[in-house]
Amino acid sequence: MMIERRHRLLGPAYRLFYDEPFHPVRGAGVWLYDAAGTAYLDAYNNVASVGHCHPRVVAALAAQSARLNTHTRYLDDTVLDYAERLLATLPDALQTMMFTCTGSEANDLALRIARMVTGGAGFVVTENAYHGVTSALAEMSPSLGLPLGAHVRSIAAPGKSAEFASDLQAAIDDLSAAGIRFAGFLCDSIFASDGIFSDPVGLLQSAIETTHRNGGLYIADEVQSGFGRTGSHMWGFARHGVVPDMVSMGKPMGDGHPLAGLAMRPDLSARFGAETRYFNTFGGNPVSSAVGIAVLDVMADEELQQNAAEVGAYLKAGLQSLAGQHETITDIRGAGLYLGVELRDGAAAVVNQMRAKRVLLSAAGPQGNVLKIRPPLVFSRENADQLLSVLDECLGG
Ligand code: PMP
Repeated sequence: MMIERRHRLLGPAYRLFYDEPFHPVRGAGVWLYDAAGTAYLDAYNNVASVGHCHPRVVAALAAQSARLNTHTRYLDDTVLDYAERLLATLPDALQTMMFTCTGSEANDLALRIARMVTGGAGFVVTENAYHGVTSALAEMSPSLGLPLGAHVRSIAAPGKSAEFASDLQAAIDDLSAAGIRFAGFLCDSIFASDGIFSDPVGLLQSAIETTHRNGGLYIADEVQSGFGRTGSHMWGFARHGVVPDMVSMGKPMGDGHPLAGLAMRPDLSARFGAETRYFNTFGGNPVSSAVGIAVLDVMADEELQQNAAEVGAYLKAGLQSLAGQHETITDIRGAGLYLGVELRDGAAAVVNQMRAKRVLLSAAGPQGNVLKIRPPLVFSRENADQLLSVLDECLGG
């Protein structure tokens, strides 16, 4: 009856995971618990990036919300300290941070800035990308299944086409043939909803060169790939050795608290600020900023990026060995603790069976045939072993 109630109250656009929807009532670290106290291994939630309900994040949130929370047009040190901390993790060329509450707002702001600075209106995305909920981004998110905007072109993700940069050039030429000037390339650095493509390292280099050669801005969507997720680097684009013009971030940024932002070159923020003003009521408020700082502290103190690299490599090796035993596995992709297991016969059945065996994950890719493994960064080798043995059983081991 809870499902019926949800459908009635929230409407049908909301989708639930799993044939038997899951109802957690408590979370801690990599675990989610149902009302009976049964523990489920969370191999999916990058939002609870430093672990569900991390005590230091909870304490920072509680302390700041007991002290002060307000809108963002008063002076406040917290947001400045946080901006400094974030910018220190980014390339030197990116020197301004603007804060939002969602990844969608961050991407939307990036589109506005790109349009203003380039004078163009045309954007390129990948063919099954997801970039957000605003009307501008829905028109640029092919995975939603709606028509793309007349000013939007899509190209195959790099794993699917060896010609990533020439596809991008062809899309830009097509825009220009339609009389639309190119404004930018919005690109998820791990190609999450395209099916997770991470290799070869360097694959973004020719795309960023092509973007710049054509007068556009390169916007790295780090909502999925940011915050140490890919193990070797703090940011997904950095793995590929590129320096974007703007970087949007969100999801893991607040360990569940709604916190997101956009980093950019200072000339871009200067131009935007000269032409208009920006006010986001909640984005970067004192509580959000305190939470964001606590997440960065926990990441550093618990060496979570390193853990993502180590446990991610261990898990990937385990998956590769499963691939040797199960012909249904056709490819293993990904970096750090963002891994994709492509299956020949679709992933839904396996996802549901794993849920029945108390391991939570999901599927990605245009055919939904790629198991998406993206746990909190506190995932251990022991957790990886549990996932591997349950997956082995579910694949018919
Ligand atoms: N970009 C990417 C790559 C995403 O995966 C998402 C969320 N799934 C967004 C942007 C939008 O973020 P939000 O849901 O916080 O608006």
